Amino acid sequence: MEIKIHDLYKTLLSHFGKQGWWPAEDKFEVIVGAILTQNTAWKNVEKAIDRLKKEKVLSLDGILNIEREVLKELIKPSGFYNQKADRLKSFVEYIDKNYKGNLNLFLHRDTNKVREELLSLNGIGLETADSILLYAGDHAIFVVDAYTRRLCKRLPLLKGMDCDDYESIRKKIERELKRKIKDEKELVKIYKEFHALIVKLAKTYCKKKPVCKKCPLMKKCSFGGV
Ligand code: SF4
Repeated sequence: MEIKIHDLYKTLLSHFGKQGWWPAEDKFEVIVGAILTQNTAWKNVEKAIDRLKKEKVLSLDGILNIEREVLKELIKPSGFYNQKADRLKSFVEYIDKNYKGNLNLFLHRDTNKVREELLSLNGIGLETADSILLYAGDHAIFVVDAYTRRLCKRLPLLKGMDCDDYESIRKKIERELKRKIKDEKELVKIYKEFHALIVKLAKTYCKKKPVCKKCPLMKKCSFGGV
C-alpha cells in the first residue's frame, strides 16, 4: 500500500512537532550554513559559524573582505575548509559583482533562474542550491538529501521512483503536495517543515540501522520491524 506524501508529513508533524528550520538568524547565515554543511555534521557547522560570528565576519562584506587564509582557519571545524572557503568566496564575489552585493536582488527572482545560477557556482550542487532557495529565498522547492533517499528506499511512498535520482524524488514530492496545498506560502512552510521532519526521523529512528519499534511509520513501512 502506497503512503500518501501529505499523510506522511502529517504523521511526522504530529509525532515530532514543528522543527522550525533553518536554524539561522538571517538569509546569509542560511547560505553559509548550507555550504558548510556539505559532508559534515551540523554540530561542526555550528562551531564554524560561531567562530565567524565571534570575528564579526558573518556577512557578505565580511566574507568578501576577509583574507582567504584567515577564513580557512575560522571554518576549519566544518572540514574540507580549503574547498569550502573557496566556495564561500566564489559565492560572495558573484553576488558582489552581479547584484551589487544585494542578496535580495539575487534571491527574489524566478525560481528556475536563481537555481540555474546557483548551480553554475563553484561547489553548489542540487541539495545546497535547493536549501538556499527554500530556506533563504522562500522559493517553493523541496530539498532532497541522503535521509530522504534512505526513506524513499524503505517506505512504499515513492513507488516506481528511482530513489537515487534527486530530481525524480523532488518532483514527485512537490507534485503530490501541490495537489493538496494550493497556497504558495503554505507550500513553502510545509516544504521547510517536511524536510526538517525527515531529518529528525532519520536521526531518531530511521538510522542506518533502523530502530523501528517506536517509529510512527512502523505500520506503513515495508522495511520496518527491527
Ligand atoms: S519503520 Fe523503520 S525503516 Fe520504516 S521508516 Fe520507521 S525506522 Fe525507518
